[in-house]
Amino acid sequence: MTEDLEEKLYRDYPSLYRNRQQTLMSEGVSCGDGWFALIDAVSFLLSKHDQKIRVEQVKEKLGALNFYVQFGDKYSTGITMLAYMISQVTCEICGSLGARYEHQGWLTTRCPCHRPGHEIREIDVDCSSVDDLELGFGWALLVKILLDSAKWHTEHNAMPAATISVKKIDGQLLVEYSNGNEMTRGMVDFINFYARRIDECSGQPIE
Ligand SMILES: [Zn+2]
Repeated sequence: MTEDLEEKLYRDYPSLYRNRQQTLMSEGVSCGDGWFALIDAVSFLLSKHDQKIRVEQVKEKLGALNFYVQFGDKYSTGITMLAYMISQVTCEICGSLGARYEHQGWLTTRCPCHRPGHEIREIDVDCSSVDDLELGFGWALLVKILLDSAKWHTEHNAMPAATISVKKIDGQLLVEYSNGNEMTRGMVDFINFYARRIDECSGQPIE
C-alpha cells in the first residue's frame, strides 16, 4: 500500500496500530490501495468498539483481504470476516467491483481493466435474489454477501439464526437484525458503515 495511505491509518487509529514494530505490521499493510476503503472501515469500527484491540497483520492472501487482530471477539470477527468476503469482489488495485482471477498460479481480485488472467467465479455475483429491494448493484452485492455469510455462519459456525431486514431510507442503506449474536452485530454494522463509503450503483469507494 502507498505510504501516505498507510500513514493515514496509523494516524487516524493509533490504538489499533500501536507497537507495530513488535508485530508483522512492521512489514506495513501488504496489499494494494484498492482495498483502502475496506481497511479504513474495519479500522474505524474496531477502534470504536474496543481500544484494547490491536492489528497484528493486514495482508492479501489468495486474492482476499486478511486482517489478523489481537484481543478480538465475536464482534470484531464479524467485521473482519465480512471485509474479507467483500474484498473478493473488490479490485485490489483501484477499488472497483471485480472478481477473482487466477494468473500464473496466483489468485488475485481485479476489475475488468486490471484483470491479469482467467476469471474464477468463486463468489456468485448474481444478485437477482435481492432484486425486490431495488438497490443499485454495488449495494445489492453488499446485501447479498451479508445474507449469504449470515446463512453460512448459522449453518457451519454455530451463529444463532438472525432475521435481517434491509431498507433504503433517505438515500441511505439501513440494515437491521434481530436474534443472531455479537458476530451478526459486527457484520451488520460493517455493511451499514461501508455502504455509506461506496457509490450505490458502481460500488466504487467515494473519496
Ligand atoms: Zn481495478
